[in-house]
Amino acid sequence: MKAPSFAYAKPRSLAEALELLERPGAKILAGGQSLIPSLNLRLSAPELLVDITGLPGLSRIEAKNGAVRVGALCTHAMVERSPEIRDHLPLLAEAMPYIAHPAIRNRGTLGGSLALADPAAELPACAVALDAVLVIASKKGERRVRAFDFFKGLFETDLKPGDILVGAEFPKAEKSAFLELTRRHGDYAIVGLAAATKQKERRVALFGFSDRPVLIKPGSLDDAKASLPAPAADLYHSAATKLHLAKVLLERAWNRL
Ligand SMILES: Cc1cc2nc3c(=O)[nH]c(=O)nc-3n(C[C@H](O)[C@H](O)[C@H](O)COP(=O)(O)OP(=O)(O)OC[C@H]3O[C@@H](n4cnc5c(N)ncnc54)[C@H](O)[C@@H]3O)c2cc1C
Repeated sequence: MKAPSFAYAKPRSLAEALELLERPGAKILAGGQSLIPSLNLRLSAPELLVDITGLPGLSRIEAKNGAVRVGALCTHAMVERSPEIRDHLPLLAEAMPYIAHPAIRNRGTLGGSLALADPAAELPACAVALDAVLVIASKKGERRVRAFDFFKGLFETDLKPGDILVGAEFPKAEKSAFLELTRRHGDYAIVGLAAATKQKERRVALFGFSDRPVLIKPGSLDDAKASLPAPAADLYHSAATKLHLAKVLLERAWNRL
């Protein structure tokens, strides 16, 4: 199938992009790795695609004041190869190779993945585990939302029509662990785990487990297992299987934390 017809605009400034997004049926296009397949399957029919990949300043990775700010247009490949990410956010560096394949990682963006909020995706869970703050621009100005509050449900976020996610600030973590179970490398997770420790606080986010990343803040491994909520089954795996696999991942992660 082919995508339905749509108009296309490539703004060169944030102000121009925000203006274009006011038009009826407008939708943001970033790396296109999720949006274009969904258009081709006719799951969505926007009237105007606003291609934000020409916006300046959104492809930077900067470490300062105990955090690393990653621009929304940074591709998964840029995050994977960044020395700042490797040094300060090893969780993200470790997670990136699990996202699809190199061709997709070369185009898919951090902002696109967070905005899409696929419950089996790696980046939303990393953002929740690291207690990231997401930075959102709109015509009313800029607002900042903690990752835990940003993910509202299945493919649902705090983004309102006309909003552009411009970046995310990830506080540096002392220790981290990333684990994922898939049938083939590059597939979305059956169940995955992103965990970070800072000042003795452990934050574990499970993905592929519920309609959004599930955050637990356990003291001990037994606490962690006991505090798991009931998972949601997917097309291939029952809730009981997911619960079992989440416990296996917790055990594997524990020593590393
Ligand atoms: C075969 C295949 C396998 C994949 N496997 C995985 C996987 O294992 N794990 C995984 O996490 N992902 C996977 N993906 C998805 C990939 O990571 C996508 O790139 C990513 O989810 C979306 O990023 P994008 O930049 O391509 O966004 P797009 O496809 O351009 O946009 C996705 C959605 O986000 C919105 N959007 C994009 N950017 C912004 C922004 N800055 N502000 C507000 N809204 C925005 C768009 O309007 C659209 O609704 C896979 C994709 C394919 C095709």
